[in-house]
Amino acid sequence: MSKRYNNVMEELVETLVTVQMLGPDFQVFCKCEKCRTDIIALSLNSLPNHYVTTEEGRQNVFERLNTKENLKWINKRIVSAIYLVGKYPNHEDQEK
Ligand SMILES: [Zn+2]
Repeated sequence: MSKRYNNVMEELVETLVTVQMLGPDFQVFCKCEKCRTDIIALSLNSLPNHYVTTEEGRQNVFERLNTKENLKWINKRIVSAIYLVGKYPNHEDQEK
């Protein structure tokens, strides 16, 4: 880890957003970098932070978060973010 503290939720959401956007449900959604980062930021705003300062802590939190039950509600927030950004995209001039 390069930073002194890391939000494990951030790491997890980045991965999950990438997976979701590649999935069959979101084929028609814009996949530009702007939309992707907006989706990640929006999802993170509605999810609890899980900061850690050590690699060991990171592993522990990751294991706790990475359960079927937790992934279900985290993915729910991500899916709403994908729809919201899809409806009101902030990218420039892509539809002209
Ligand atoms: Zn876009």
